[in-house]
Amino acid sequence: MTQKKLILVTGATGAQGGSVANALLLQKDFSVRILTRNASSANALALKTKGAEVAVGDLDDIESLKKAMAGCHGVFGLTNFWEHFGKEYSQGKNLIDAVAATNIKHFVLHTLTDYGKLSGGKFPVPHCDGKAALQVYCDSLGLPATYVQLAFYYENFLNFFPLQHGADDNWHFGFPQGDTKLAMASVEDLGEVVASIFNDPQTYIGRTVGVVAEDETCSSYAETMTSVFARRVVYNHIPRDVYAGFGFPGAEELANMFEVQRLYILNRQADKEESHRLNPGIQSFRSWLVKNKDQFASQFNVTQAAEAVGV
Ligand code: NAP
Repeated sequence: MTQKKLILVTGATGAQGGSVANALLLQKDFSVRILTRNASSANALALKTKGAEVAVGDLDDIESLKKAMAGCHGVFGLTNFWEHFGKEYSQGKNLIDAVAATNIKHFVLHTLTDYGKLSGGKFPVPHCDGKAALQVYCDSLGLPATYVQLAFYYENFLNFFPLQHGADDNWHFGFPQGDTKLAMASVEDLGEVVASIFNDPQTYIGRTVGVVAEDETCSSYAETMTSVFARRVVYNHIPRDVYAGFGFPGAEELANMFEVQRLYILNRQADKEESHRLNPGIQSFRSWLVKNKDQFASQFNVTQAAEAVGV
């Protein structure tokens, strides 16, 4: 019996890394070690129960990363901008330098496109631009790497962008995306894509893979929601400058992100086709909505109950 190849999965207690760890644990050729700052968290313990080894480490501490990578064949790398903001680059650089120091055979790093560059410097988007800079740095070292760039999560509608009940009795969401198609996917489906990549290093080392399940307009997504929820859902275009002025943390950054997509990323059809090949079970927006209908139902009920008592 050949020995399974050990993959260190960073971010495994979260959404992206969790999807990757769970997919790799079902693969016959791979075993999984996860990196976490807290080995006793519920998510770390759940992965341990499923057969993952657990390594304690921190992206701020390169020695802990080298130790966690010892004996590994591959690494899945994730940085979390929304927790660390300006530290994302130094944490990603630690990850890349640790990969370089430990003879890793295949490194799959989550990155994004440089939106600042795409817009000629007009619309900086640090959570994208910083990841793109990490990709450039990783390339400069000549590592055996594949870059995965996951689209806007469907799950954002459950946490960051819940539907709003309007005075017209319809349900609304709004972005500065205009009528340009918005690429989306469920974060749950990243894992199968990454597993396919680890299974085919010859094809994928040196490649950037955009992970996209759907590429439709926001109005079309609103129609899908309307049909699944049997409530009218409406998409509103919110101009970039209006959105940037909303004042919540990250409003200007997200306004820039949608504006760059509206102006410069007109479709992701090629990424969509490749993602469907790499993960034939990738969920459509409709099937994901149907599966998560109860979570939306509680969103509708909570909002309406709050309105009823004037909150
Ligand atoms: P998440 O669910 O919040 O999970 C974050 C993970 O990062 C946890 O597993 C956490 O592990 C780990 N982590 C954070 N800081 C760490 C540190 N210092 N050392 C070691 N591990 C650390 O996040 P996610 O959604 O999977 O990924 C977030 C990233 O996705 C962001 O960079 C964002 O820009 C990107 N992204 C988001 C979208 C979207 O639509 N939302 C789309 C594409 C890309 P422990 O707590 O266990 O240590």
